[in-house]
Amino acid sequence: MAGLYLHIPFCKSKCVYCGFYSTVNQKDMDKYVRFLTKEMSLRSRETNGGTIKTVYFGGGTPSLLQISQLQQITTAIKQHFSIEENAEMTIEANPEQLTKDYCLNLKTLGFNRISIGIQSFHDEILQFLGRKHTAKEAILAVENAHAAGFENISIDLIYGVNERNNTLWQKELETAFHLPIKHFSAYALTVEENSLLYRRIHQHKTVEPDEDLASIQYNILSESVENSPFAQYEVSNFAMKGWESKHNSAYWHRVPYLGLGPAAHSYDGRHRSWNAPTLSAYYTQIEKEKTCFEHEALTGIDQYNEFVLLGLRTHNGINLREMEELFGLERTASFQRYFKTEVENKLYRLEENRLRLTPQGLWLSDGIASGAFLTNIVDS
Ligand code: SF4
Repeated sequence: MAGLYLHIPFCKSKCVYCGFYSTVNQKDMDKYVRFLTKEMSLRSRETNGGTIKTVYFGGGTPSLLQISQLQQITTAIKQHFSIEENAEMTIEANPEQLTKDYCLNLKTLGFNRISIGIQSFHDEILQFLGRKHTAKEAILAVENAHAAGFENISIDLIYGVNERNNTLWQKELETAFHLPIKHFSAYALTVEENSLLYRRIHQHKTVEPDEDLASIQYNILSESVENSPFAQYEVSNFAMKGWESKHNSAYWHRVPYLGLGPAAHSYDGRHRSWNAPTLSAYYTQIEKEKTCFEHEALTGIDQYNEFVLLGLRTHNGINLREMEELFGLERTASFQRYFKTEVENKLYRLEENRLRLTPQGLWLSDGIASGAFLTNIVDS
């Protein structure tokens, strides 16, 4: 078991694009901390005594928790799990909570990586997205984290927002590159079915994000990164050399992880499981001492499809020898045939038994991967 994920399902308000499970009712936070630590005691045996290499507090907004609440959680983690000495320990945070004191306290609790939800350095775009911070606060948050001793700082950005033209996007990237960060994630604005943006589009209050704009801004991103100290290592993730997210990289390499909290997923190498999707259902699940809500065994076809989908999203691509060892010669040959016959040459490279998508191919990676999926073959 390499990774531990803790979902903190509270937010100050709902951002327009967000489809993650979270609640704006913050009354329950103490109760939630108690249930989360109870879930640790119920599920720690799933790690089989293995060492945890990465811990990730995601959400929701983990930085809405007070330091004393975070301390209860980190103490329980140490009680129930064996954590590697230099484990990567990340907390997602929103800029408005990141005072210098809060950052110093996070360091004292053992966090060594902070991922800040900035999304934009432009106030009008932040307002459109429903974010509660200003551009000035976003920059100050990074400076506070850095001044508190965080070296491993990541920020999130969103592109393909109709309100932002290409020149502005380029400028925002330059702003990001001048901050003391080692990593950033950049996501195209998408319309999640259960988001406010989805509802507003269907009520004709706003228009859908322009896909061509997103594609152009992805190209601007790729070109800007070429001339920066960062390199793309996954469709949406960019890092200085050696500062790639260990936790997320483990997901893409299908390393097992345990996810705690409502709507959290877990993976043990052969099964995926899901916790109850809402807080009230989660409380019921934990009160009944049920370790998960739903559970599915991955078939050989599922494992192959995940290998293809996740591998093609990363800069390392797919190691064809590994594919052959895991799934056999015939499937590997048919995978290569698919690329030769169906995928444009400019979208991928095949070098030393490794097939990887070019930046242009990465933009289309989900579609390219789905063309290689197995669907109708009887699983062996
Ligand atoms: S984007 Fe983040 S802060 Fe905004 S509602 Fe979703 S989880 Fe909360």
